[in-house]
Amino acid sequence: MGYKYVFGPVFSGRIGRSLGLDLLGSRVCSMDCVYCEVGKTDILTSERKAYVPAAEILQELEQWKGEGHLLPDFITLGGLGEPTLNSDMPEIIRGVKKLFPSMNVAVLTNASTMTDPEVRRELLEADVVLPSMDSLIASEFRAINRPCKGTDPLAIARALIEFRKEFKGKIFLEVLLSRGYNDSDENLQKMKEFSAELGPDRVDVVTLSRPGTLDKAGPVDSATLGHWKKVLDAAPFKNRDCGQETGVKERSGTDNPARVQADKSDAFDRIQASLMRRPQTAQQLAGALEITLGEVDLALKKLEKNGRLHVRQTGDEFYYDCRLGDDT
Ligand code: SF4
Repeated sequence: MGYKYVFGPVFSGRIGRSLGLDLLGSRVCSMDCVYCEVGKTDILTSERKAYVPAAEILQELEQWKGEGHLLPDFITLGGLGEPTLNSDMPEIIRGVKKLFPSMNVAVLTNASTMTDPEVRRELLEADVVLPSMDSLIASEFRAINRPCKGTDPLAIARALIEFRKEFKGKIFLEVLLSRGYNDSDENLQKMKEFSAELGPDRVDVVTLSRPGTLDKAGPVDSATLGHWKKVLDAAPFKNRDCGQETGVKERSGTDNPARVQADKSDAFDRIQASLMRRPQTAQQLAGALEITLGEVDLALKKLEKNGRLHVRQTGDEFYYDCRLGDDT
């Protein structure tokens, strides 16, 4: 069946093969980052509410489970915006764990809501939290992340340090560098001090490798990236799109004992849903969704015919995406 809120799995360089849950259903975020892969934020807000009710997401996930797909390494809360804005998040995490008792649950977050103690308390139920922090200099932070008015990067940093004191799971901090936005020496020094105090389980320093919201937002060169990685003691990071060891708990493999051959007839819907959340190459789609390149090719052609497909070349790679609202 086609899904509105379950997408992927996708291969993530940070956590491996991950099935995504979209907690927003549309581009709702507390930031409008220049590098965002899902496109420009439509609703810039810090208001928390049940943008997608837990029951709807969990119903889809139960359906997905019943289809007997190969289990991913993670189920990740993310989607078209900032997942912690969904006030049903704790119910969703508990529901995922009920359906898949030994599954790792990850939450991707820009961390802006973590200044709220209630959000920090809710996130304690996750296994891995992946906060991003791109700059601790207010002017840089505003330029690259374009957050809701009044968002203070130093308050977010303090909130993350508070969270670290209680959280028993793992924190993978991400710093995304964009040339001219946040690659200053002053920021590097501040990030170094912050990271030393936070003590994340891993730091991932990355740069743009896929199309973002603004064309002028470009990647830093490899020397800059290497320097930042060294100073921040970042994890070796070969490629954002290949799996790597995460050090989190092993799944028992019993979450889906009645595994059957997944139905391939829904390949088009799965490809479309995945490309709405993340630009990917044909090879990445085929690998993550366990379908053939031929099936991917057919789906891409159909999307192109419908006028929904965007393609951008980065280096030698062609990235495809179909963003929300293309057909409206
Ligand atoms: S990158 Fe994340 S935090 Fe930034 S606008 Fe996109 S969804 Fe929001």
